[in-house]
Amino acid sequence: METLTHDIVIVGAGIAGLRAAIAAAETSDKLDIAVVSKVYSVRSHSVCAQGGTAAVMREGDSYDLHAWDTVKGADFLADQDVVEFFVRKAPEEIVLLEHWGCPWSRTEDGKINQRPFGGHSFPRACFAADMTGFHEMHTLYGKAKEYDNITFHDEWFVTSLIVEGGAVAGLTAIQLKTGKMHGIRAKAVVMATGGYARIYEFTTFSHTATGDGMAMAYRAGVPLKDMEFIQFHPTGLVPSGILITGGARGEGGYLINAKGERFMKRYAPEKMELAPRDIVSRAETTEIMEGRGIEGPYGPYIALDLRHLGEEKINERLPLIRDVAIKLSGVDPVEEPIPIRPAAHYSMGGIHANIRTETPVAGLYAAGECACHNVHGANRLGTNSTSDCLVFGAVAGEQAAKHALSNGFRELSQDKLLAEEKRVFDEILGSEGDERVPVIRAEMRRVMSENVWVFRTGDKLQTALKEIRALKQRFKNIRVEDKGKLFNTGLVEALQLDFTLDLAEVTIASALARTESRGAHTRRDYPKRDDENWLKHTLAYYTREGPRLEYIPVTITKWHPTARKY
Ligand SMILES: Cc1cc2nc3c(=O)[nH]c(=O)nc-3n(C[C@H](O)[C@H](O)[C@H](O)COP(=O)(O)OP(=O)(O)OC[C@H]3O[C@@H](n4cnc5c(N)ncnc54)[C@H](O)[C@@H]3O)c2cc1C
Repeated sequence: METLTHDIVIVGAGIAGLRAAIAAAETSDKLDIAVVSKVYSVRSHSVCAQGGTAAVMREGDSYDLHAWDTVKGADFLADQDVVEFFVRKAPEEIVLLEHWGCPWSRTEDGKINQRPFGGHSFPRACFAADMTGFHEMHTLYGKAKEYDNITFHDEWFVTSLIVEGGAVAGLTAIQLKTGKMHGIRAKAVVMATGGYARIYEFTTFSHTATGDGMAMAYRAGVPLKDMEFIQFHPTGLVPSGILITGGARGEGGYLINAKGERFMKRYAPEKMELAPRDIVSRAETTEIMEGRGIEGPYGPYIALDLRHLGEEKINERLPLIRDVAIKLSGVDPVEEPIPIRPAAHYSMGGIHANIRTETPVAGLYAAGECACHNVHGANRLGTNSTSDCLVFGAVAGEQAAKHALSNGFRELSQDKLLAEEKRVFDEILGSEGDERVPVIRAEMRRVMSENVWVFRTGDKLQTALKEIRALKQRFKNIRVEDKGKLFNTGLVEALQLDFTLDLAEVTIASALARTESRGAHTRRDYPKRDDENWLKHTLAYYTREGPRLEYIPVTITKWHPTARKY
């Protein structure tokens, strides 16, 4: 097998991966840095970020206020030392992007504009119309291209992480153009592979969001943390699930039920539509379950009414939303309310990493949505993710660079490379079974949507665990129709499905064990938050029989848990 060598390999070219590459390149021009991505960089899901990036930029706002909003939003499961670091770093990142050419939306007097966002008690979302991620990505990509020591391996699919004696040795990856597997030696690896919301059907996420990096780290012995916490975004466009940004409510949009009521007054009388996402998603689901949804051809939905904002404001602040609603739902928000319901949107959990993005494996760092540094706890606030990708992407790049400057390469064992080649090409591509990827994938998504959604119960989680384990068995009997090598997307989809099945299992096992309701994890059978027993993070370790769970404490600096009211 051909083997490449780079000092640092960054897996993922979204906001976190690009920011990490730039930080590593700025640390030293002697380092050979590679960014590996299964799609071209600017097709990473980060380009879809719409509403904004949170940072304290104005008088009247403060680090403490941003930290408090984040901790309260997290239902107190965030590590407060990490949150305090995060809020202080975020403004620096906004200014850096500004210097690198990001076209932020402006106030009348030319300052970077900021809009209100759910759960934030100050308008602190910096934005570029409703295409914030698109502009951030293009700014970062342009900047990364300036460094001669960054190489992009686009359309390479990483299949496994290789660890030797507790430290990173490298990776295996298929170059999709040739279909050949390569070993990649590296002193340091940064995982920046994004989220896994594609375990669900109704989701705001791109088809690429299959959690590959999380699953690879898990299989290599790194625990996954807080995986029971999946965010449901209140405004997924019906029927596609495409996101209607929280910025639409930030700009003043209303949520209306079949009776024409602004029902949020019953759930969050003060914040109304701008309560955090877990609360709004539960409110919408309750309205629908109690018969106050609006009947439509795709089942009951809720209306997002923007008409009172007027055409001019909608065109200036929410142009993408108007376009998307017209094209994909046949509704012009200037004239009619938009049909929406909760959609799977974000994973608060991910690869266990600390404030320096270090994982338990030496030389392995994690940043962006695939990582869990304990900032978002049980529920992330809107616009805190892109800030997180920037802040911890930069940290991961610096840390990986430091590590690569003071450590050598580990042996990349031929046995492991050959075993991986056998797994992918003989056991998956070569399998002559009679199960199909789209069938098992649809089943997995049905199981997750029926049993592991906004509201959960022990019974349903048990059912889901059994069914996902049965699907894992069925996967062993898979058949990929295309047996060719070049651009074998059938093989890629099979590998992604294999990863998501592991992640679905971890999500359910973690959710089943947590017998309380906190943030986005709502148990009908345990409706209260239970700080005495559950103010702790879940760690899930890979074993052949399924995840083994352990727990670690939450770090509290200033803010002791109180009732969470909005
Ligand atoms: C529609 C939408 C709107 C959003 N709006 C906002 C917002 O306004 N504000 C906010 O803060 N957050 C928002 N979010 C969340 C935020 O955009 C994401 O959490 C964040 O962009 C994730 O970035 P990332 O760098 O971690 O990963 P991604 O951008 O998802 O990139 C993942 C990268 O990993 C690569 N990769 C994955 N697997 C492999 C593999 N096996 N081999 C090789 N490469 C691989 C991919 O090719 C890709 O380059 C939004 C999310 C969505 C879906």
